[in-house]
Amino acid sequence: MKVGVLALQGDIREHFQALQECGVNPIAVRRPAEIEEIDALVIPGGESTTIAHLAATFGVFDLIQDRIRAGLPVYGSCAGMILLADRVLDAIAGQRTFGGLDITVRRNAFGRQVDSFESDITIAQLGTPAMRAVFIRAPWVEDVGPGVEVLASVKAPDGRNHAVAVRQGACLATSFNPELTGDNRIHRFFIAEVCKLAKPIK
Ligand code: GLN
Repeated sequence: MKVGVLALQGDIREHFQALQECGVNPIAVRRPAEIEEIDALVIPGGESTTIAHLAATFGVFDLIQDRIRAGLPVYGSCAGMILLADRVLDAIAGQRTFGGLDITVRRNAFGRQVDSFESDITIAQLGTPAMRAVFIRAPWVEDVGPGVEVLASVKAPDGRNHAVAVRQGACLATSFNPELTGDNRIHRFFIAEVCKLAKPIK
């Protein structure tokens, strides 16, 4: 199974390390031929507007969107979650996303009060102990469509509960950056549970 890490901007190296610790040998992908041959994709944390801009510059924006629509297993952390969201609040003018998750996210939602927010979150699918989640200028989920499974929520600085880990079929996303904390359970879950939905490449 070829797992690609979208290598345009962001914490690419950290995702590489997390995946390697899960026994996967990932490949860096940024060109059309590379995107065409992967069986799964990780979209790193970073800056969603920059990643989208660079994906268009490298001529892979539409290709990634098409492959996600066709069922490519994909995991997005933080900026990656924004890029997988069908709807974005507080986007910059003209900001595009690949989509795939029937969710609305609010960009920089935690960042307006504080730049970094940490919380221990429980994800039933990952067992115990709770996961230390680090949110860096992170989005939160404002609403989810009926087909979306909420894996974790936190009481956010606005006093409301917001989903911060969601899954819809082969699309998995977290508002936080597990690649930065050394807890690889999200990556393991992606490899073991989400990637098994991979379809053969036509
Ligand atoms: N604020 C960033 C964005 O809008 C996301 C931050 C992150 O990925 N840590 O893309």
